[in-house]
Amino acid sequence: MTKAVKGTHDLFKESLRCQQAVVSRAREWLEAAGASEIATPVFELTEVFERGVGESTDIVQKEMFTFTDRGNRSLTLRPEGTAGVVRAYIEHGMKVWPQPVRLWYAGPMFRAERPQKGRQRQFHQVGFELLGSASPLADAEAVALSYRILETLGLRDMKLKLGSVGDAEDRRRYNQYLREALSPRQDDLSPDSQRRLSTNPMRILDSKSEDDRQVLKELGIRPMLEFLGPGAREHFEAVKRILGGLGVPFEVDPAIVRGLDYYARTSWEIHHEQLGAQSALGGGGRYDGLAELLGGPPTPGVGWALGIERVCLALEAEGVSPPPERTLDIYIAPLGEGQLELALAAAASLWPEVRAEYALSPRKPGKAIREAEKRGARFVGLLGEEEARAGALTIKDIASGRQQTVPLNRVREWLESGGEL
Ligand code: AMP
Repeated sequence: MTKAVKGTHDLFKESLRCQQAVVSRAREWLEAAGASEIATPVFELTEVFERGVGESTDIVQKEMFTFTDRGNRSLTLRPEGTAGVVRAYIEHGMKVWPQPVRLWYAGPMFRAERPQKGRQRQFHQVGFELLGSASPLADAEAVALSYRILETLGLRDMKLKLGSVGDAEDRRRYNQYLREALSPRQDDLSPDSQRRLSTNPMRILDSKSEDDRQVLKELGIRPMLEFLGPGAREHFEAVKRILGGLGVPFEVDPAIVRGLDYYARTSWEIHHEQLGAQSALGGGGRYDGLAELLGGPPTPGVGWALGIERVCLALEAEGVSPPPERTLDIYIAPLGEGQLELALAAAASLWPEVRAEYALSPRKPGKAIREAEKRGARFVGLLGEEEARAGALTIKDIASGRQQTVPLNRVREWLESGGEL
C-alpha cells in the first residue's frame, strides 16, 4: 500500500475541522483589525528565502525542500510565510497604499525536519504581517492579536514570552561578546554551534543540543536584553507598557532569540505548557530590514505565525473539541429502480440549504432507516412509486418514528422550518 510521505498528514473530519476552526477564529480577529487576506504561491525562487529568512538559519541551511525546475531555476517550497508576503508587498507596490498595510494568510509550509509529535514536514500556519509602521503600537497590536486568537479558541495554559533582539548594531555587539565568551570553550560545543560561532553566534542560544546548553550555563552567558541600545530599549519599554494597557499577560524572557535572521527589536513566542518538547504554538517579531533584503524600499514591519497543528494539539490537551460537523438533515431512499433519478433530483433540489444525501440503488424502508441512522441523519425520505406519482416524499422523523408525506417542491421549506410532524 502506498502511504502519505513521512512527516505529511491527511486532514479530514476532526483534524480538518480543528484546522478550519483555528483559521476562522484568526480570520475573525484579523479582519476586525483591518487585515486583508493574501494567498502567495507555495513555492518561490530559492533566493526569496535565502535572503528573506537568512543564509545562516537552520531553515535555509538544512530544512528547505529545494528543487530545480525544467528551466534550471532553483525553486523552494515555502518554509514560512513572511518572506513571500513581503516579496508580494514589494512586487505589487503596496508601499503606495495607505500605510500601514495589514495582511494575513493561512496555508501549508514545508520544512525537511525530523518528524515527531508536533513537528511535520508539511504543516500549516496562519500568520499576520503589519507593514509600514515602526511604532511600538504596531508590535503591541500584533502580539495582542496572536494572543487573543488563541485565548478565544479556548486555550488557558499558555505563556507569552516577550523579548527584544535589539537593533543591528546591538546584535553586532552581542555577537562579538558571544564570540569572545564562547571561543575558549569552542571544542565543547556541538558541530553545528562551532559553525555558528563564526557565522551567527546568537543561533547558539537557540540550540537544542545538551552540550551547548551546558556550556552556556557554565559560562553564565549574559542575555541579549542587556545589550540593547537606547532606541531598542525605549521601544521595548513602550511595547510592554502598551501590552499591559491592553491587558495581555506576558513575561519578559531575556534570552529570547528566534530562528529567523531578519528579526529586529520585539520578538515573542507563545508556548503551551502541556505540549512537551515542541511547545511553541507560534511566534513573531519585528523585521524592519527585511523589505530591503528582498530588493524593496525600506519598510518597517512586524508579524507572527501560529502553527495550526500545534494549536490543535493544545486544544485537544485542554479538552476543547472542534465544532461538530454539520449533521445530515435528510437521507433520501428510492424504493425501486424507477425512482433512482428522482432521488438524486430531490436531493439536488435541497442543496445547498439542506444537507441531503440519497441512496444510489433501491432500498427497502427498514434498511433505509438503519442507514440514515448510521449517517446521523435527522430524517429519512422514502421515495416509492406512489410518492413518485404524487410528486411527494414520505418523510420519517428517525427519533420519534412519526411520518408525513410532503410535496417535493415544499420539502426544503418544510425542513427549514424545523420539520415539525
Ligand atoms: P517559526 O516560523 O519557526 O517561528 O514557526 C512558527 C510556528 O509554526 C511554531 O511556533 C510552530 O507552532 C509551528 N511550526 C514550525 N515548524 C513546524 C513543524 N515542522 N511542524 C509543525 N509545526 C511547526
